[in-house]
Amino acid sequence: MKEGWAVRVQKVEGERRRQELIAGDTLDRTLRPRADGSELLIPVTGSPPGTERALFEEIQAPPPLPRHEQVGGIVIMQENDVSGAEEILKARPSTHTVLYSDGAVEGEFRTKSFTTLAGIPTTRTTISEYGHRLTIDLSQAYFSSRLATERQRIQSAVQEGEVICDMFCGVGPFPIALSGRASWILACDKNPSAIHLLRENLLTNHTRNVLPMLGDARRLGELFQGTFDRVLMNLPMIAADFLPVADQITKPGGTIHLYALQEEEGKYRERIGSVLPGCKITERFLRSYSAGRWHAAYDIKKGHDGTNFVP
Ligand code: SAM
Repeated sequence: MKEGWAVRVQKVEGERRRQELIAGDTLDRTLRPRADGSELLIPVTGSPPGTERALFEEIQAPPPLPRHEQVGGIVIMQENDVSGAEEILKARPSTHTVLYSDGAVEGEFRTKSFTTLAGIPTTRTTISEYGHRLTIDLSQAYFSSRLATERQRIQSAVQEGEVICDMFCGVGPFPIALSGRASWILACDKNPSAIHLLRENLLTNHTRNVLPMLGDARRLGELFQGTFDRVLMNLPMIAADFLPVADQITKPGGTIHLYALQEEEGKYRERIGSVLPGCKITERFLRSYSAGRWHAAYDIKKGHDGTNFVP
């Protein structure tokens, strides 16, 4: 037991008062509140007026869990630590699986390989993102929730009735987030597993205006010349190689969102300018990727008169 300062309240008032103390940052979280007859003694930091001394049981803080990332019901660890994985599984009731990955994203489909450390051996799970449910399979198709805020930003930029193309859609987080305002969305990916999961996700979310397309985005120019108001290019290592196709399929006055990894500001400006001369470019920092390297977003606005920008 440890002596500390306490606020005395009627039990019925206890929760309301506790919330007030949390809001004022004066609840002492190292001590456990206790009953005293019909009243409650709540431990507080400092000695504000109306407080008294009281004895409390100390709260033992649980040891910190090993470093991990939670994706739906799956936890991903960066260390091959089986006992740490068991600890996490016990501490997080909604977790069904703990996986280990050395972090390397591989191949054309940008997937990772995993080893199961604890729980059910699966790489499939369901996540919630801004009211949508997405089934993902981490070893079969790329998914990262780190772009969730960016999806919301693009969603708020979309005008009612836009026709949109996601050239590298994965399991569909962008198309599903944007489907509410768009007229229709073409969602293309070369990975059959990504398109399979996308179709599942369209059904789950009752999304009826997204057209899944299994194919190489290089071919889109032949099929959809000047069709889209907005084009998304999220293939950060090599998306810039696809700029000529994106230009072909975007309407005059349309917008292209190019995501790229870079180690110097403005790295892709010249390249974009050479494909779309006179376009208007806005560059944004999204998030840090590794030491000295970050994820950047380029919003590229084509002119109304072909590629020459007319404000
Ligand atoms: N946009 C999705 C997201 O935010 O979760 C997925 C982005 S992931 C970084 C890139 C995707 O591009 C992968 O799903 C991969 O299979 C797909 N991809 C790679 N090369 C492609 C190509 N030539 N044509 C179409 N899709 C391609």
